[in-house]
Amino acid sequence: MKKLLLPFLLLTYLTTQAQQTILHCGKLIDVQNRKVLSGVSVFVTGNKITDVQSGYAAAGAGGKVVDLKNKTVMPGLMDMHVHLIGESKKGDFVNEFIKNPADVAFESVKYANVTLMSGFTTVRDLGGGWGIVISLRNAVNNGLLNGPRIYTAGTALATTGGHADPTNGYRMDLMGDPGPNEGVVNGVVDARKAVRQRYKDGSDLIKITATGGVLSQAKDGAGAQFTEEEIRAIVETAKDYGFKVAAHAHGAEGMKRAIRAGVSSIEHGTFMDDEAITLFKKYGTFHVPTIIAGRSTADSAKIPGYYSPIVTPKALATGPLIQATFAKAYKAGVKIAFGTDAGVFMHGKNWKEFVYMVEAGMPAMEAIRSATVSGAELLGVSDILGVIEKGKLADIVAVDGDPLEDISRMEKVSFVMKDGIIYKNESL
Ligand SMILES: [Zn+2]
Repeated sequence: MKKLLLPFLLLTYLTTQAQQTILHCGKLIDVQNRKVLSGVSVFVTGNKITDVQSGYAAAGAGGKVVDLKNKTVMPGLMDMHVHLIGESKKGDFVNEFIKNPADVAFESVKYANVTLMSGFTTVRDLGGGWGIVISLRNAVNNGLLNGPRIYTAGTALATTGGHADPTNGYRMDLMGDPGPNEGVVNGVVDARKAVRQRYKDGSDLIKITATGGVLSQAKDGAGAQFTEEEIRAIVETAKDYGFKVAAHAHGAEGMKRAIRAGVSSIEHGTFMDDEAITLFKKYGTFHVPTIIAGRSTADSAKIPGYYSPIVTPKALATGPLIQATFAKAYKAGVKIAFGTDAGVFMHGKNWKEFVYMVEAGMPAMEAIRSATVSGAELLGVSDILGVIEKGKLADIVAVDGDPLEDISRMEKVSFVMKDGIIYKNESL
């Protein structure tokens, strides 16, 4: 048996090595140089981009050509704010009492697939319990199911009663007193312990809820919920494990504390004021706008019974403001990374964020850059992802038509390659 297996493995290895795919790209967005190239061949061998040449090169022996001549090709898209653990539906605030972790896990498999098929080859998952997205990430990485590259925070961190406190709104006898293990911290000792627990869990980064939020069963949607000292303890401890910290923040005070304490990104940033903008620029902090989340929660809140009575007024008041905040931040020169909060609305609709960004005054090229080069920078993976060039991982997508002329073309992702594997090719 062993004698037969070795030559077989060797043969498989050699065939895999020799397999070369050449993508004939009608247009290719060079996000690095803000240029569009026409008539380009991208060579992919294994999981890497091995060359980019002008003209349509012929395939060598054993190689194959993929015809994308009618399409616009770009690096795989990166969404810096998703929640693969769920998807908003009317009245779903009762879910946590009726669904088992396995139910939620099976649903997340579907959402991961939908996300990949809509062209998002990398996502930053910013919170979900039971370690489900950590297992989802591992399953994707092990080739058990299809999904994007997942960088997950695991369970998000909050203070008692804060936006990500998992027992907010529960009946008193069910509320308990969750601690660092469950993501609730009070004081620097808890803060350090919670980060170390995320490391132990297998998280890739840390997410904190620096202010109140819209969809938690709590009254306050924007006030500061951590002391600066607590956030500083989280950021410092996170550094020991190579973790970056993402901070959810609507109100300006919590946002400023988080930026000064050294977080890498502010999520939403709704009530950002001029002082906050100055801090963003001083610290090089990214703003991850999630305009679509604001708009869709405001829309859903108009449907009677969609959210609980405590959530509805927050969604109506906060949601519509994010697009204008984004416009102001972008104009002022704040670094922007594309992020949607998918899960708060339907997975797969992430592309709409591009439309809202362009609508708010960002050129289409910059919007696409925010979902490629800037996403890679925020994740700290610019050495392997975010551009199409020799030596980078082969995460490549294509849309029908030209999204630089009509950004709504981002809906029409018809080719998806991740790690050198083609998951979708509608031209076949
Ligand atoms: Zn979120």
